[in-house]
Amino acid sequence: MSFRVRFTPEAKSDLERLYDFLAEQELGAAERALEIIDRAWSLLEEFPFSCRKAEESNPFLRELVIPFGSIGRPRRPSYELLPSLSVQRRGEDGWIEVICGPMFSGKSEELIRRIVRYQIARRPAQTFKPLLDTRYAEAEVVSHSSLSVAAQPVADSTELLQAVEERTVVVGIDEAQFFDDGLIDVVEALAGAGRHVIVAGLDLDYLARPFEPVPTLMTRAEYVNKMLAVCHRCGGPGMYTQRVIDSDDLVVLGATDSYEARCRRCYDPQEASQERLEIAEV
Ligand SMILES: [Zn+2]
Repeated sequence: MSFRVRFTPEAKSDLERLYDFLAEQELGAAERALEIIDRAWSLLEEFPFSCRKAEESNPFLRELVIPFGSIGRPRRPSYELLPSLSVQRRGEDGWIEVICGPMFSGKSEELIRRIVRYQIARRPAQTFKPLLDTRYAEAEVVSHSSLSVAAQPVADSTELLQAVEERTVVVGIDEAQFFDDGLIDVVEALAGAGRHVIVAGLDLDYLARPFEPVPTLMTRAEYVNKMLAVCHRCGGPGMYTQRVIDSDDLVVLGATDSYEARCRRCYDPQEASQERLEIAEV
């Protein structure tokens, strides 16, 4: 019989706080700490019953002691042993996070921040972006402030699903508004199979219409962060993407100077075509 080890919710939040703490430390200290944690975990692989019982009456609830000499107090995340006949079963821990908002609201930066956090914790992560988004770099997600994380360009949602590896726990998806509506089912399937899916994208197009599939994904997500930009005109809360050049295309790619973030008062969907008329009159 094999056993599956599941961390209790309290242990998970302990570890998350620990990783947040480590992420802020000097790199060498954080790396040493991660080695200690790795060793503690690999012990479980061989001797799942080696740690002491957390409750006298429950042999399947144990405490994992992670000894930190110089870093802080010893941590004791609890874990449960679940007898299982399969090697590994997923399906309990998946969820969907959506990061939405206008251009210049820091969506890609926030996606990168969350992915890097998992990478520090050595959780297998894959990030995807639509093939058509070729600005800045081919195989990365790059924010306007030049943070980056490796990202695989895929043609559509089907190709994305096929590209997710068995071991992957965290799936990041950038520029979700450029995907087909099949992305909704794909993201649901990934979360249903135990993946943490983090989706970033525009919720509104330049005419302030819902930009699918992001709005539907927001309704399917456990966690939604609506980001705001700073209005380029008045400094107010920028919720809209204002197009400042004239084009009927839904998307003008790679032309960040064709857009501004605008607040409710300063946003005007007709502005670009009006400006063209003014130029035509001169
Ligand atoms: Zn404004």
